[in-house]
Amino acid sequence: MRTYCSDVEERNVNKYGVNELRKMFLDFFESKGHLVMKSFSLVPHNDNSLLLINSGMAPLKPYFTGQEIPPRKRVTTCQKCIRTGDIENIGKTDRHGTFFEMLGNFSFGDYFKHEAIAWCWEFLTEVVGLEADRLYPSVYLDDDEAFDIWNKEIGIPAERIFRFGKEDNFWEHGSGPCGPCSEVYYDRGEKYGCGKPGCTVGCECDRYIEVWNNVFTQFDNDGHGNYTDLSQKNIDTGMGLERLAAVVQDVESIFDVDTIQALRNRVCELAGKTYKEKHEWDVSIRIVTDHIRSATFMISDGIMPSNEGRGYVLRRIIRRAARHGRLLGIEGDFLANLSSTVIEGSKDGYPELEEKKDFIFNVLTQEESKFNKTIDQGLNILAEMEENMEKEGRTQLSGEDAFRLYDTYGFPLDLTMEILEEKNLTIDEEGFQAAMKEQKEKARKARKVTNYMGADVTVYESIDPAITSEFVGYDKLSWESDVTAMTTEEAVVDALTDGESGTIIVEQTPFYGTMGGQCGDTGVIRCGDGEFVVQDTIHLAGGKIGHIGRMTSGMIKLGDKVELSVNPAGRADTCKNHSATHLLQKALRTVLGSHVEQAGSYVDAHRLRFDFSHFSAMTPEELAKVEQIVNDEINAHLPVRTSVMTLEEAKKTGAMALFGEKYGDSVRVVQMGDFSTELCGGTHVANTGDIAVFKILSESGVAAGVRRIEALTGPGVFAYYKELEDRLSEAVKIVKATPANLAEKLTHLMAEVKQLSSENESLKSKAARESLGNVMDQVKEIKGVKLLAAKADGADMNGLRDLGDQLKEKLGEGVVVLASEKDGKVNLVAMATDSAMAQGAHAGNLIKGIAALVGGGGGGRPNMAQAGGKNPAGIPQAIAEVEKVLEGQLK
Ligand code: ATP
Ligand code: MG
Repeated sequence: MRTYCSDVEERNVNKYGVNELRKMFLDFFESKGHLVMKSFSLVPHNDNSLLLINSGMAPLKPYFTGQEIPPRKRVTTCQKCIRTGDIENIGKTDRHGTFFEMLGNFSFGDYFKHEAIAWCWEFLTEVVGLEADRLYPSVYLDDDEAFDIWNKEIGIPAERIFRFGKEDNFWEHGSGPCGPCSEVYYDRGEKYGCGKPGCTVGCECDRYIEVWNNVFTQFDNDGHGNYTDLSQKNIDTGMGLERLAAVVQDVESIFDVDTIQALRNRVCELAGKTYKEKHEWDVSIRIVTDHIRSATFMISDGIMPSNEGRGYVLRRIIRRAARHGRLLGIEGDFLANLSSTVIEGSKDGYPELEEKKDFIFNVLTQEESKFNKTIDQGLNILAEMEENMEKEGRTQLSGEDAFRLYDTYGFPLDLTMEILEEKNLTIDEEGFQAAMKEQKEKARKARKVTNYMGADVTVYESIDPAITSEFVGYDKLSWESDVTAMTTEEAVVDALTDGESGTIIVEQTPFYGTMGGQCGDTGVIRCGDGEFVVQDTIHLAGGKIGHIGRMTSGMIKLGDKVELSVNPAGRADTCKNHSATHLLQKALRTVLGSHVEQAGSYVDAHRLRFDFSHFSAMTPEELAKVEQIVNDEINAHLPVRTSVMTLEEAKKTGAMALFGEKYGDSVRVVQMGDFSTELCGGTHVANTGDIAVFKILSESGVAAGVRRIEALTGPGVFAYYKELEDRLSEAVKIVKATPANLAEKLTHLMAEVKQLSSENESLKSKAARESLGNVMDQVKEIKGVKLLAAKADGADMNGLRDLGDQLKEKLGEGVVVLASEKDGKVNLVAMATDSAMAQGAHAGNLIKGIAALVGGGGGGRPNMAQAGGKNPAGIPQAIAEVEKVLEGQLK
């Protein structure tokens, strides 16, 4: 425990840094009995109501609802947060970032308002030494309890305590737990004020800024505005670390606090600009500074740029940063460079940034250069749009077009606007917003219906949270245990009987629940003549393992001692596939480099899929090498060892940890000889030799910078080859060959086919020629130009053109028009030689003039044209018409 200096003077001289303040906060609440937990990933776990974690409370929801039991009733965190809703504020206000860290202390049914308020005040005034008379608390309108605590217990005069309405000071999210808030504002002095009359606490300007928000969760809203007292009252507080630093360091904005200032200076340096010289530049400098922090942290939590969801948020942020970098005059790729400054400033609190450094740089640079390419593409499209506008006499770009540029080419609206402005053109901004809204609406509808805390409402939430299950199946496939909970698909029940589907939970189970990419076990649970077939095994909130399936006979009751048996063949094959992914990952890193990180994986009894970061398609040679390495390690019969140790110890063994994954205090390390060491909770073979054989089926791209390998092992490989063999023998039978001479036989067959079809072509054109008879008799002279117009039956368009060429040759100079009927359709060809054209003949117009007579249309160049038609009966008339049309053309 740390002791705090009480000398205010000295503290102000101290001007604690961001990293120091973070530690002071956590230490302070630790001294008040709180458990310090690490920041959770920015990617929400089991919560599809949220794209990204946006508060300290968000990842703790299951503890607030009672769905899971917290490790302690008092918890404190410093949580990474992203708020894209604040994106428009960045650069404009002093207090908003899209990325920030939220300090928080939480009570799950433990202490309440008295302690929360007292500690909040103690921390601000005594620990960090803010001047008490610059702080103003606010409470909810009728929360007299909080008012009295501030007034009587803390001693704040009544006129310095503000009462605000629901909008500001009541935390509520649909139905469920909710409650009043009490915020603390800091007065930064007149120079930050808007100067408007009535500017005081609560004004939107930057003088009085909200530093800390304390939420007192004390009511339950039934969804119709009826509030009842909660039996378990909670405390949830949030204070922006950067804001705290800004007031403690007495600087103008969050962009001036020590760590962020270093980054801001780096941006200025790259751009060759000075901060505070020109407002426009300042906005861009702040945007780049903020966005690169968001992007760095998002990538370090495993988010990749893409066109949807979180990936799209990341893409927009990177592109916005890249574009504002351009506006500042920074040339070439610069984001990775800046990201290294972010990592330098934050690796104290987030060591994973340093570990994932190379990967983060790679992703940033890829996305940045990709945008540089789409910028050019987008500019071309925009030029086309401008042309159309000019043609149509419009001076306003439609909202849909502007949105298309934004959506497809990553063009921010202001970029499009800027370019158009130079040409005195405008944008239908309302139309743009409407198109945007429509898309958002679609996205919103696509999200699932959720309950108040965002999780899917399921029957499992009604199970007693004190019930947990233990997995005992690493080395056992059958086990006896007591049934502790059961559900049907709708309700918690005491028994399941023949024909019913549901879930069984026991104390200890040998069944592996789906996790870490490994599919859950199948098998059977028995008790007397009761039999439940387990179709899937999953993890439920609060450390429970659910066996999902159907009763096929008898009955199983709560409290029964049951025999649980995992399907041994399924488990064995899954183990082979899982162990092979470890060998595969190591082999990929060996062949492609250490930038390879697991981005996802899936293994079941039948196959394995492994997604990893890599920036180009693998060559056949690389794939062959990887496959070879894995098979070599299988043949080396490496023993597979597993051990449980602390994360620190595991890191020392060089174990590969997963991106954005949250590990507990102790982790399981899986080692295969000296070849591979990974943190993994999955099930594995005892010796790599058990895998037998490994075969890659495909390698493909799944997202920017993410490749996917699909592969098989052991019996899967044999089944695969058996199927290939069956197909081969079928094919061999058809062409009357043997597998050995199949290629030779096919080469011969293909040559024969080629020869036959060329013979067929020449026979066809011969036949067409013959059907014309002695056509040269039919040559006429129109105004001194020779014309041959005739019908050649049975010829297709190619044949007709061939024939036309031959006849033109024979004719020397003149015009040839041929018509044919084939399969009930008409083909027309017209050709004119140079001298005929010189006299006015035009094959294209000639065809146009007669095509209607055969029920068709067409045209072409002056020397050659063709057309099709649907009315063969019109052919003679069309041929007769040629003479007339040509006569009209000739001079
Ligand atoms: P504001 O009105 O200033 O946007 P808020 O009401 O959205 O704040 P809360 O949701 O109560 O803030 O979040 C708790 C604390 O987190 C705030 O008191 C503030 O210190 C901090 N905070 C909120 N949004 C941001 C942001 N965009 N950047 C930095 N800190 C923030
Ligand atoms: Mg806000």
